[in-house]
Amino acid sequence: MALQAKLTLLGTGNALVTHCYNTCFVLQLDDKYLLVDAGGGNGILAQLEKASLNLSSIHEMFITHAHTDHILGAVWVVRIIIKLMKSDKYQGNFTIISHKRALDVLETICKATLSPKDHSFLGQRIILKEVHDGQTLSVCGHNMSFFDIHSTKEKQFGFSLELAPSKNLVCLGDEPYCKLNYQYASKAYFLLSEAFCLFDEKEIFKPYEKHHSTVKDAALMAQELEVQNLVLYHTDDNLLSLRKARYTKEAQQYFKGNIFIPDDLESIDLI
Ligand SMILES: [Zn+2]
Repeated sequence: MALQAKLTLLGTGNALVTHCYNTCFVLQLDDKYLLVDAGGGNGILAQLEKASLNLSSIHEMFITHAHTDHILGAVWVVRIIIKLMKSDKYQGNFTIISHKRALDVLETICKATLSPKDHSFLGQRIILKEVHDGQTLSVCGHNMSFFDIHSTKEKQFGFSLELAPSKNLVCLGDEPYCKLNYQYASKAYFLLSEAFCLFDEKEIFKPYEKHHSTVKDAALMAQELEVQNLVLYHTDDNLLSLRKARYTKEAQQYFKGNIFIPDDLESIDLI
């Protein structure tokens, strides 16, 4: 059981945002750190710096899927960690966990863009750890179970991480909850879900065409699943400074637990 567990959002936006960073986050479990996705590019380095997180203390990463707004930042993370390794500023290995599809894409981009010498770290000290639907691993000293979200667009895994007995943090990735994953999401202590925009603004932002949910949809789903704490992210960046208030107001109408609409670089204490 973690004595301290903290979620820090490095980014909270969807793929096309320009006023915040793409959705990715760090989970701190006592003195260990897990990076989940890395956004769409070099901006990940600025976000880590602003959050006072040093890559030399991050040894595990999970990638949900191979879309640009999640995986391209991982190439930068790999590049910087190799640089740290080469200058003896990184101890041990860096493990990247995902399904075969995302690992193959990451490997391909790294091979095409890194120097041969840097690329040779992959498989040596940069470990690509493939996981399968339903598999459980120990990550940062905690049980982490991976599940296929059954995306029709791109192979994507979510996960359930055991913070403490019966207290799981569940990440659904960047698509709406799929009923096939009831066993993971039901009664989640923390549920991380995408919410593209407000229900009232669905005609403007057309979330359903992009296979995304509104705040209302996500809140109703969380209520039905008897979730305790709901975190909404991967949103549009329209009226960003008002997002917390506007989204919270809509979510409260349908979900009775605690609602978090974090801004970039905001941290949430989980335990
Ligand atoms: Zn996305």
